[in-house]
Amino acid sequence: MKTDLIYFKQNLRKWHKDNNRKYSWRDSSDPWKIFLIEVLSQQTQLERANKYYNKFISEFPKPVNMAKASKRKVLKLWSGLGYNNRAIRLHDSSKVLSKKGFDGVYPNFKELPGVGEYTNSALLSFAYNEKVITLDTNVKRIIGRYFKVDDIDNFIKDNKNDLLNRFNSRDFNQSLMDLGSLICTSRNPKCSVCPLEKNCMKYIKEVSKKNTPFKNSNREKRGKIVKILINSKKVTSKDLAKRLEIDEDKITQLIEALKKDGVVKASKNKYIEINSN
Ligand code: SF4
Repeated sequence: MKTDLIYFKQNLRKWHKDNNRKYSWRDSSDPWKIFLIEVLSQQTQLERANKYYNKFISEFPKPVNMAKASKRKVLKLWSGLGYNNRAIRLHDSSKVLSKKGFDGVYPNFKELPGVGEYTNSALLSFAYNEKVITLDTNVKRIIGRYFKVDDIDNFIKDNKNDLLNRFNSRDFNQSLMDLGSLICTSRNPKCSVCPLEKNCMKYIKEVSKKNTPFKNSNREKRGKIVKILINSKKVTSKDLAKRLEIDEDKITQLIEALKKDGVVKASKNKYIEINSN
């Protein structure tokens, strides 16, 4: 467990340095910003939730601005997201927060309408820098798979201190959320390009591992393609060939293999993108 844990943390941190999804609220510790994005991203893809976040934060920079607005206005801004009862609870929460402030509710944000265990843990970690592992589905899925545990909640509880030792909780949680969205997806995890693959118990036990050398292997090249696609938009196979100094026929083969694994997809305009479905 100890070696697995060190490997897990080292490789996760290293991977996230290059693959951190950048959003304006990610570096903020303003609890209102964090609360907004957490509510907006429930059952909604982050990219889409972020577009709504930008509208909400410019209209309601503080809880008091939302509290003073009509329900109709909040619902109008929310339009298209679905689950309108979430908008109503957000509006109700803003009324509580405009009176008490976040510090008046801390540390039990579950007092706010609609706030459950997950949003509570996200606020404690991202806004209050507490040593908390967020109970997010991505975080739980990766920990469950990598350490091959069934009772994930208890495992996290028992190993929280080791998992977060010398790892800032915000970075730890965000790294796992990004890895879970991009690589260790619930269906078809992209193990062949995963930074944790070498010691992942799910991978070792369930996916027969070919002992091919990594250096110059197709696996290494596929990993480089994925890294470029995570960090850049509007990339064609020609661009990839140029950047990786690999001939175009080979790039086409590598992309086909990645498509077959469900890692990437080609858009109509021939750009290659990460398949986040
Ligand atoms: S190797 Fe596969 S199952 Fe294991 S953490 Fe990575 S993507 Fe998930």
